[in-house]
Order: sequence, then C-alpha cells, then structure tokens
Amino acid sequence: MALKKLGVVPNYQEITSKTVIVIGMGGVGSVCAEMLVRCGIGKLILFDYDTVELANMNRLFYQPDQVGQSKVEAAKTTLAKINPEVVLETYSMDITRVASYDHICDRIRRGGLDGESRVDLVLSCVDNYAARIAINRVCNDLDQPWFESGVSENALCGHIQLLLPGRVACFECAPPLIVEEGKSEKELRREGVCAASLPTTMGLIAALLVQNALKYMLRFGEVSYYLGYDGFCDFFPTWPMRCNPNCASPRCRELQAYYNAQGWKHPQDANHKHADSTSRKVKDEATEPGPAEIEARKWGITEIDDKDELKSQHSPQAALSQHLPDARPLPPSEETQGAEAASASEIEDLMASLKKLMSQ
Ligand SMILES: [Zn+2]
Repeated sequence: MALKKLGVVPNYQEITSKTVIVIGMGGVGSVCAEMLVRCGIGKLILFDYDTVELANMNRLFYQPDQVGQSKVEAAKTTLAKINPEVVLETYSMDITRVASYDHICDRIRRGGLDGESRVDLVLSCVDNYAARIAINRVCNDLDQPWFESGVSENALCGHIQLLLPGRVACFECAPPLIVEEGKSEKELRREGVCAASLPTTMGLIAALLVQNALKYMLRFGEVSYYLGYDGFCDFFPTWPMRCNPNCASPRCRELQAYYNAQGWKHPQDANHKHADSTSRKVKDEATEPGPAEIEARKWGITEIDDKDELKSQHSPQAALSQHLPDARPLPPSEETQGAEAASASEIEDLMASLKKLMSQ
C-alpha cells in the first residue's frame, strides 16, 4: 500500500493475481521463491528434481532437518508457513527429459491462478546448459517471456537476463563459446573440483532477479535486459542483447520475423517502451562496423549502447579482474607504496654494487 501511496508502483495489489514459475530450487531459486512469497505473489509453480543435502547448508533457505526431502516439497512446507495465502504447486521433475516438455507447456499455458490463464513469468534458476536450453525451447515455442539467471563457478560473479522471444536475444542466439566451438559442458569441469558457492552471491543474484521480475510484472522502474555482477570489484555491466538473425532455434527466427513485421524496435535503436512496461534511453551511433565488430557479430555479440556510461562504471580494477578472474586487485595502500619505494632504493643499491664490481 505504501509503495502505491508513495507513487513507486501504480498498483502493488496486482501482485496477488500474478503467477510465476520457478525452475530450479537451488541457492538462487529457493531464495527467489521465498522473496516472491513474502512479496505476496498469487501463485508459485516450482520445479526441481533434486533432494536437500547437508552440503546445501552454506546457501540460504533450506534447514538441516529437511535433508533427504525433495527440494520442492521442503520448499512448499516452508513457504506455506511464511504466507499461507499463496497458492503453491510443485513438481519433482527433471525438466530436461523429453517427457517433461508437454507438462511444462501445459503449466505455462494454463498455470495461472484461475486454472485457465497463462502464467505471468518464468524464472530460470537452473545451474546447467541442458536445462537452460530446455527452458529456452519451451519459452520460444510459446512466446513466453522469461528471466534467466546464473552464478559463476568461482562463486563471485553472476547475471540475470530478460528474454523476450523474437525481440531480444534468446539463449540460443548467443550460446556459450565452448558450445559454439562444439565442446561439451563436461569439458568445462575440472577433475576433482566442485563449483564454489557463497550465500552472499546467490542471495544477491536472487534479489536482482526478483526485483526485475517485480518491475516487469507490476510495470514500474526500468527492467534490466541483462545485468551482470562481478563480485571481485562490484562491477555491474548492463545492456540489451540483440537477436541473432542466424540463431540455431528456427522458432526464434520465426518470432524475429513476426516482431520485425510488427514494427518492434530493439531498445538499442531508439528510446523505446518495451512490451508494456520498460523504457531505456540509448544513443544510436550509426557507424560502419570495423573488423573487430564484424568478428563479434559472427558470434552474435553486439556492442554496448552507451560507451561513456560504461567507461565511467568500468574501473581499471574491473578491467583487470575481468581478464584475470583469479586476481584480486586492490587500490595501492600507504603500506604497499612504501614497499615500492623500499624496493626502488634497493635496486639503486644493487646497481651501485654492480657498477663497483664491474669497475674492479
Ligand atoms: Zn534465438
């Protein structure tokens, strides 16, 4: 009510009529579900095939006494206690199986609160490429807006991305480089190394995801099409990604043709109101592409719209951290400056000794 009175959200009460599907109830998805329940969402449909393990306790949400239970059942119990007014529907199911496709399609089409209407949004909180591809295919087929999210293996970086089929890049428009090169996801995994995870990063990505889901559903603020997070230096890159005209998904290409014919303008091309909610101010610099851009386009990569804005956000530390993921650049402190001075005087002493030796 206060959000409405203060003019932040036109009609916050609308949230009670909204339905969201959360796919993947791990460190990000479970926190998203809890946030949505506390925000007063009308209905949640939860998908996950896994069970709660003791090893999950370094993340948020699940409790040690839930170990062994299916994640969706454990979540249902907790969420119902927090807000009994939310309608909860759960499926302990592997969404990458062919047999799951029809069921997910049906839940997107008819999962709404009234049992007939389409859900409002799908949130992908899965941790692997195969599951993301499965969600991308279903959402492309049904022209269903969805948000994708991810946390990196090093536990300090992540992203969220809004996917509007045929309008901004789908997951197959810009596949990970390793996939484009024909390698398998398994090759990324290093022997004996398990992905790291921190509740801080996962909570942060979940919060960014739900914040943008709220903005999208309740039509306020500006929704981020892509928002990255680099926890080494707190750098948050953001930009909308264009569809790849040569996307591997025939349905994506079909929807691109449809929305182009409808006069859809990409957010980078003009000050544009997307769907029914967001706007984004962008500069349109019509310049001939250079060789680097032609190479980038081959991979479906397009340039960030506002270079000045990005430059101001992108500190040298951020640049260094991006190229050297394991580096932890720190601003020079008085102590390190002192150390540099000491080492410089040491070099002078050494040079003097060397000259002395050579003259002998
Ligand atoms: Zn695509």
